[in-house]
Amino acid sequence: MVTIAVDGPSGSGKSSVSKAVAARLGLAYLDTGAMYRAATLWCVRSGVALDDTAAVAAAVRAMPLEMGVDPAAPGVALDGDDVAAAIRTTDVTAVVSQVATNLDVRDELRRRQRAIIADETVGGFSGGHGIVAEGRDITTVVAPDADARVLLVASEEARLRRRSLEVHGVADATSVEATRDQVLRRDRDDSTVSTFHVAADGVVTVDSSDLDFEQTVEAVLTVVER
Ligand code: C5P
Repeated sequence: MVTIAVDGPSGSGKSSVSKAVAARLGLAYLDTGAMYRAATLWCVRSGVALDDTAAVAAAVRAMPLEMGVDPAAPGVALDGDDVAAAIRTTDVTAVVSQVATNLDVRDELRRRQRAIIADETVGGFSGGHGIVAEGRDITTVVAPDADARVLLVASEEARLRRRSLEVHGVADATSVEATRDQVLRRDRDDSTVSTFHVAADGVVTVDSSDLDFEQTVEAVLTVVER
């Protein structure tokens, strides 16, 4: 069983790259950011005030979340309801850090992440011999003993351009500016609980600023094959 841990900030390309690496190696894939997003949506839908930390933690502990781990179709369901699109709306993105910085929420989701990593057949996908897990604290806290650990970084400019393409479908000056505030604010908010801009000991940094998608996948595969 192999575990590959990939961390990085938003716009570093970690989700698409991790998915491609998993598919190439025949491994399962876990998007831990999707779990924090699902937790946020669950609280909003349950009418829990996000600044009520105890109520948020209780709601997340009871959250009926199912994570799909097939890299070709990594589903996210809440109580059987497919929420893959709903967790990526700008409404959820704007408040996800508030839930993700709740330390009891982190304990609960990290526990679930470790359980999925230990049994990657969960969700009906039987890659059978390991998993690529990506997020902000996988290389450091969730799976510090992973067989390969990568921090995927990119310049602010490259990250804003990619994020703008994802959200607005274009990356001209106006749409990049519209993306700037949200991305940088989320970086700042998230950095109170995770240090995803600096590689921990033994974690290999891959800088994708000047690499295209395929080159980035190759660079990560090179780290894995070391
Ligand atoms: O990766 P993505 O942008 O979907 O992550 C959404 C949010 O989930 C991040 O902004 C961060 O607040 C939180 N997150 C986290 N720890 C992780 C993965 C995501 O705190 N391992």
